[in-house]
Amino acid sequence: MSDGDCNEGSTWEAIMFAAQHKLDNLIAIVDYNKIQALGKAEEIINLEPFAKKLKDFGWAVKEIDGHNFRQIEQALSVIPFEKSRPSFVIAHTVKGKGIGYLENTVASHYRCVEDEKLSATYKELGVEYEDGI
Ligand SMILES: [Mg+2]
Repeated sequence: MSDGDCNEGSTWEAIMFAAQHKLDNLIAIVDYNKIQALGKAEEIINLEPFAKKLKDFGWAVKEIDGHNFRQIEQALSVIPFEKSRPSFVIAHTVKGKGIGYLENTVASHYRCVEDEKLSATYKELGVEYEDGI
């Protein structure tokens, strides 16, 4: 889920339910890019201290670099993180990572890569690109 989803009461209701019922076969992964549709998360509803809140609500928590596949694999290699607790992965990410004009911007929620910037964007990401594909 997104970090914006964690502003919703129904999410925290589910978080409390899962902990109360010791759902240790449940895993939640949050894309924690700290940007939401309307602005920076800290300016809208600050989730911090996010990990502490989740632990206080009864979850076992791991924090990882969400861009690092090895860390994702390692985080999910042993489930549950703790017996009788649901598992929560906070995956720290940067929205639009690697695309200079979109990286870590609120606009990246809405903007698509413009056609005239497509070739340069692929190049910036180190991806081979042929026009028209
Ligand atoms: Mg977000």
